[in-house]
Amino acid sequence: MNNPDDQPANPGAGQRWEKAVTGAGAPKAAGRKPAPPPAPEPLYEKHQTVHNQRINGPFRRFKWFVMLVTLAIYYVTPWIRWDRGPYAPDQAVLVDLANRRFYMFGIEIWPHEFYFVAGLLIMAGIGLFLVTSAVGRAWCGYACPQTVWTDLFQHVDRLVDGDRNARARLDKAPWTASKLARRLFKWLIYLAIAFATGGAWILYFADAPTLFREFFTLQAAPVAYATVGVLTATTFTLGGFMREQVCIYMCPWPRIQTAMLDEKSLIVTYKDWRGEPRGSVKKAEKKPGAYGDCIDCLQCVAVCPTGIDIREGPQIDCITCALCIDACDRVMKDIGRPRGLIDYATLEDCEAERAGEPPRSAWKALMHPRTLIYSGIWGGIGIALLFALGVRNHTDLTVSPDRNPPFMLLRDGSVRNAYTLKLRNMESRPRDMEIALDGLPGAVLWTDTIAQTDAARSHVLEVGPDQTRTVRAYVAAPSGTARQNFSFVLTSRDEQAEQDSSETLFNAPGGE
Ligand code: SF4
Ligand code: SF4
Repeated sequence: MNNPDDQPANPGAGQRWEKAVTGAGAPKAAGRKPAPPPAPEPLYEKHQTVHNQRINGPFRRFKWFVMLVTLAIYYVTPWIRWDRGPYAPDQAVLVDLANRRFYMFGIEIWPHEFYFVAGLLIMAGIGLFLVTSAVGRAWCGYACPQTVWTDLFQHVDRLVDGDRNARARLDKAPWTASKLARRLFKWLIYLAIAFATGGAWILYFADAPTLFREFFTLQAAPVAYATVGVLTATTFTLGGFMREQVCIYMCPWPRIQTAMLDEKSLIVTYKDWRGEPRGSVKKAEKKPGAYGDCIDCLQCVAVCPTGIDIREGPQIDCITCALCIDACDRVMKDIGRPRGLIDYATLEDCEAERAGEPPRSAWKALMHPRTLIYSGIWGGIGIALLFALGVRNHTDLTVSPDRNPPFMLLRDGSVRNAYTLKLRNMESRPRDMEIALDGLPGAVLWTDTIAQTDAARSHVLEVGPDQTRTVRAYVAAPSGTARQNFSFVLTSRDEQAEQDSSETLFNAPGGE
């Protein structure tokens, strides 16, 4: 029962645990009523607000850089214009749901080309695997939207309430008018950021300047207000208040990533063989050689955005943002010891260093087989997508034969089949397109806009810019024609002379 290994690490919790199990502290007088059993330990730990301290250093600067780039991309992209001529929208990145198009600079994706989007999503997934395999949870530490917005909100905290100690003091202070005013002001800034975040999102789905104007003159569609409302509320709550709890308790990615890490993955590690036993500079001066490099200053804990102590070993709460490396390196510099007591390292390198080998550069750890395999797959899919984009046709034809009736006998004995053709002109200009028959000797073609008397082997039709023209087509073959396959061929009548064809069936009497 009193095995010390069973006791929780937290000393306060340890005392409560001891009292609960042994009854220590209960009245001992004989004959008195026994004390009621203590209340059970709560299942959930009370949330402790993390007041992380400001730090400067290479990793912090890199985080600034990633934050500015990602936020700039998110907020600015819908405002970038891209000239596609008079018949297409001039927004560089646009998800045009009404017309079922996705525009990205010079690329326009049609619904039947969704495989490009699927390919990009697969690349994004493999990219995450690649990053995890190479540099551990770098996505979580630098580029995940939850990390970026949490970081932004933490800077607002610092701006309004001051650094770590001032914020902790203010948190504990009673609710005075000044504290309330400060809080309201801060929450107003949170709300402005959250609103800008939700507002920017809808601009990707319509012409940004038009929607912006309509939104503020209350002329936008209700779905725009609902989307902005939901995104504002979630950004305000998740970034402003829940912060690291989203990473620790809500997000599945840390669990998946943990399963993907191996002994060759880079993680942020405290080098306990170098740091332990901990002791202040004074103690180390009194007893040289008795203490490790860690002076137990807790700077690494103070700067951590998730409030953990990396010296307790790798933890799921660690998003590998490396701010503790910056903090500890600064301490090491100040006390004249070598940097890297906390550092990016693989478990394999840690074992080697523990055995006395010199530290290996983190860059060398990037080149291991799994990373190279992921890079190869990622690059292969990217090249295949680029190739498919380069050779894709801007003329497309689909054919659906009528099933019922499969054919009709005309007065002169010829056999007629009907088809629905979809002629796609994927250029941002109107084009003349020739639709012709290939095979089926003696057959002629007419459409819902071309009379039967003008039937011929081919006809030219105009298809509007960026449009699909649906055409009812009729094909008549001489009496005695057997059931057989033939093709419709669509050719653009311009300098590109792009062509697409679609094979289909001509039904005739006597067919199965
Ligand atoms: S910052 Fe470095 S020296 Fe200070 S407690 Fe953390 S590991 Fe030890
Ligand atoms: S322990 Fe270090 S790397 Fe991990 S989250 Fe905290 S500061 Fe970032």
